[in-house]
Amino acid sequence: MSAITLDGRELGRTIEKDLMSRIDDLKAKGVSPHLAVVIVGDDPASHVYVRNKEIACNRCGIISTRIDLDSTVSEQDILKVVERLNSDESVHGILVQSPLPPSIDESLIIDTISPLKDVDGFHKMNLGNLVQGDRSGLLPCTPAGIMKMLELSDYETSGKNALVIGRSRIVGMPISILLAQKGIDSTVTVAHSRTKNLADICLQADLIIAAIGRAEFVKSEWVKPGAMVIDVGINRVPDPTRKSGFRLTGDVDPEAAKNAGWISPVPGGVGPMTIAMLMSNTVLATEFLSR
Ligand code: NAD
Repeated sequence: MSAITLDGRELGRTIEKDLMSRIDDLKAKGVSPHLAVVIVGDDPASHVYVRNKEIACNRCGIISTRIDLDSTVSEQDILKVVERLNSDESVHGILVQSPLPPSIDESLIIDTISPLKDVDGFHKMNLGNLVQGDRSGLLPCTPAGIMKMLELSDYETSGKNALVIGRSRIVGMPISILLAQKGIDSTVTVAHSRTKNLADICLQADLIIAAIGRAEFVKSEWVKPGAMVIDVGINRVPDPTRKSGFRLTGDVDPEAAKNAGWISPVPGGVGPMTIAMLMSNTVLATEFLSR
C-alpha cells in the first residue's frame, strides 16, 4: 500500500483562489488588504518564512510591508512598532515573526498586537475564542491549515482516534482543541516529551499530527495501516550533496508513506497551508476592520 500525498501547494492555491473574489470586493470598496510583518535579527529560516509570506501576498494582491529590526533592538522599541501598526488604519494584519531574541518577552509582544489585527491567531483573546468553540475568528494558521487540509481531502474526522504529538501553543495545543470540538468530533490524545510508549499509542491512531521538531522521529512501523499522517515538522538535516549543505525533512520517517493511507510531505505539505491560512486571516481581518 502506498499513501496518497496531500499536496499542500495545490490545496493552498485552492484556498488562495477562493480568497480572490473577497479581495476584489474589498478593493471595489476602496480597501486594500495590508499585512505588516515584523522580523527581528537575521535567523536564516525566519527570513525564508517571511520571504514566502511576501511572495504569497504578491500572488493574492495583498499589500505587504516588512519591518526589519536589528537583533539588539529593545523590547520597548518592538512594542512601539507594534503600537504604531495597531493605530495605522491602512494596516489590517500584523505578524511578529518568531523566534524573537531570548531577551524579549514574546507573549508580551503578541498580546500587544490588536486582537483584530492578530493574523497569526496567537493573541490570548483569539486563543480564548478558540477554546470556547468559536472557529469563526482569527485561528492560528498552522492548526487552521491542517483542518483545511483534512477538509479538502474529504477526510472524515468524526469518531476517529486522533493523536497529536507536541503540545506547543502555536501548533499542538490548538490543533488538539480543534479536533476535539463539536462538529469535528475526533477522540484526541495529546503526546509530549514525557509520554511513555509513544509507538504503542501511535499504532492506535487513525490520524497522527506530528509537531515535535525532531527529524523523522515517528517511525514507519508506528503508523497503523491506512492512517492519515500530517507531518508539521520542519527540520534541517546536514546533506553534503546539496549546495546549501542541508535538506528539509519532517518529524515523520518518509518510509511511513508505505503504511499510511494519506501523508503530508515536507516540504510542500503543511507549510504552504499555513501561508494560505495567513492570507485568509488577513482578508478576514480586513473585512472585519472595514465594516
Ligand atoms: P515546540 O518546540 O514549541 O514544541 C515541540 C513539542 O514536541 C513539545 O510540546 C514537546 O513536548 C514535544 N516533544 C519533544 N520531544 C518529544 C518526544 N520525544 N516525544 C513526544 N513529544 C515530544 O515546537 P512547535 O513550534 O510546535 O513546532 C514543531 C515543529 O513544527 C517544528 O519542526 C517546527 O519547525 C514545525 N512547524 C512547522 C510549521 C509549518 O508551517 N509547517 C509551523 C509551525 C511549526
